[in-house]
Amino acid sequence: MFSAALLKKFQHIPTPFYFYDTKLLGETLKAAIKSAEKHNIELHYALKANSNKDILKLIKTAGFGADCVSGNEVKQAIDCGFKVNNVVYAGVGKSDTEIRFAIKKNIFCFNCESIEEIRVMNAIAKSENKTARIAFRINPNVNANTHHYITTGLEENKFGINVWELDDALGVIRKSKNIKLIGIHFHIGSQINDLTVFKNLCLKVNELLEWFSNRNIFIENINLGGGLGVDYYHPDVKPVPDFENYFSLFRKFLKIEPTQQIHLEPGRAIVAQCGSLISRVLFVKKGVQTNFAILDAGMTELLRPALYQSYHTIENVTGAKRKEVNKYDVTGPICESSDCFRKAVELPETKRGDIIAIRTAGAYAESMSLTYNLRSKAKAYLATDL
Ligand SMILES: *Cc1c(COP(=O)(O)O)cnc(C)c1O
Repeated sequence: MFSAALLKKFQHIPTPFYFYDTKLLGETLKAAIKSAEKHNIELHYALKANSNKDILKLIKTAGFGADCVSGNEVKQAIDCGFKVNNVVYAGVGKSDTEIRFAIKKNIFCFNCESIEEIRVMNAIAKSENKTARIAFRINPNVNANTHHYITTGLEENKFGINVWELDDALGVIRKSKNIKLIGIHFHIGSQINDLTVFKNLCLKVNELLEWFSNRNIFIENINLGGGLGVDYYHPDVKPVPDFENYFSLFRKFLKIEPTQQIHLEPGRAIVAQCGSLISRVLFVKKGVQTNFAILDAGMTELLRPALYQSYHTIENVTGAKRKEVNKYDVTGPICESSDCFRKAVELPETKRGDIIAIRTAGAYAESMSLTYNLRSKAKAYLATDL
């Protein structure tokens, strides 16, 4: 995947670092925008997948809005040039300071996750003499069939307003003069590869739209969140996700009027495949059952395997042509046994100093990085910087 010229450049950069393939990112953005325009869908990129400023500027320039889950993400989006009328803000626990900040900025929409939040938002909007546009983030009780830690749309999850609370939520809206209900919002989980999950969501959303319509409430914006998965096992086979298939599904199954706007919030699908975590092997040591390849990158630079037992393709780029293949537990240097990228990875004979690429690390890697063990933050390089 990496050209010889690029490898040569990697040799001179201190590890670990994040590498972003800007050409692939560009192709991904173009495919997403093209398909979204065709189906008249507004896209808000989910900043939490990767909030690197250089990456954000490229995504903004391609024509995306922003989906934020904290006040600092709202600030980062605006600082990077996203238009405020294209910023949406979800989050089950928005602080008063965060709400006030985003109200002052006049963002497009708050995705409200509880009745109490709506009351607080109205009070803050009133004190600022503003009207906040909100959508109900509804918990549709639809199973995303993904890892339970990244499932968000079941009643047992903390996210969103439950369907049986909607009557009460409408009651609060009627009494809240500084709130305007402009839509409904859903986000049922992440790394979803089974598209029937999104079809099930559409069917549930249709029922809810009818519920609102029966109460003479027009829902102008329907935001179905993010969640489209990527292929962590074969990062080079189809590096640009099939946006066309995904977007057309919403057009096909949602029963909506031309005056109703569909919104989506892809995060992972936009940035995951363009990123790699590049590290060096510090030591190779023999265990009882296995060998350990101990890298200078760890869970502090890529938390996903430790947090969700997730799979990443691991490549020894220096040793790619070596004949002998061995199995290694590929670990980081952090003082935690969970600091292991994967067990029994088949790699060419691996030695101290080899460069190891952990693939599909453009999403939820740099943005989740930690300073645990007083680690320094790893630098990030775009292909265009090298
Ligand atoms: C995380 C998140 C997303 C993005 O999810 P992906 O799986 O990365 O596409 C979108 N919307 C909300 C509200 C989120 O919390």
